Amino acid sequence: QKIIITIDGWSSCGKSTLAKQLARELGYIYIDSGAMYRAITLYFLRNHVDWTHPEIVHEAMQHIRLTFMSNHKSGQSEMHLNGENVEYVIRDLVVAEKVSEVAAIREVREFAVKQQQEMGKNKGIVMDGRDIGTVVFPHAELKIFMTAENEIRVKRRFQELYEKNPNITMEEVRANLEMRDYIDSHREVSPLRQADDALVLDNTNLTIKEQLEIAKKWVVERVPG
Ligand code: C5P
Repeated sequence: QKIIITIDGWSSCGKSTLAKQLARELGYIYIDSGAMYRAITLYFLRNHVDWTHPEIVHEAMQHIRLTFMSNHKSGQSEMHLNGENVEYVIRDLVVAEKVSEVAAIREVREFAVKQQQEMGKNKGIVMDGRDIGTVVFPHAELKIFMTAENEIRVKRRFQELYEKNPNITMEEVRANLEMRDYIDSHREVSPLRQADDALVLDNTNLTIKEQLEIAKKWVVERVPG
C-alpha cells in the first residue's frame, strides 16, 4: 500500500536530494513543487508581467501550462512551461531572486496547489516544498520537516550554482537564501512552518545515505498493513 510523503523546510536544506532518492527506492513519484513556482516566475519575468496587480496576474495565469515530464535518459521528472523544458533555466539566480515574491501571491498558490493535490490522488508520491504538509496534503501519512545549519546550506547551494556560473559569489547566495526564507515564512498565504505532526530531520551532520535510512524507517512505521 502506498502513502503520501511530504518534505518541507528551509531553502537548500537538501529536501529535493532526499525526496528524489526516497521516491526512487520506494518506486514512488517525486514532485518538486518549487519548480512550479519557479516556472511561473520565469513566465512573469520573460513576459514582463507586473505581478503587483491581481488582475494582470489573473490574465497571465490563463496562459501558463505546467507539466512534469520524465527525461528519457535520466528518468528524472523535469519541469515544462507551455511545452518548453525549463528545468535548467528555472534554477538561475535571476529566477531565485523573484520567486518568493511570486509565490506569495494568492492566485499563484491556488493555481499550483490545485495541480499538486491532483498529482497526489493516487498516493505513492513524495512532494517537497514549503506548505506541502500544512496546506497541500494536511492528511499525508508521513510529513518530514528538514533543517540544516545556515552555513552548510549556503555552501551546498553555492557549489551547485557555481558549477553553472563561476561568477557567482558566496555572499549573493547567502543573501538570496536569507531573503527567500524570510519572505516564505512571513507571507500571508500559506507561510512556511512546521506541521504539528511533522518529524524533524536535521541533516547538518548526516550523509544522504544516513538520511535515507532514517526516512525509510519512518515510512515502514507508517505504511498500513
Ligand atoms: O524549493 P525551491 O527552493 O526550488 O523553491 C523556490 C521557491 O518557491 C521558495 O523559495 C518559495 O518561495 C516557493 N515555494 C513555495 N511553496 C512551495 C515550494 C516552493 O512557496 N511548496
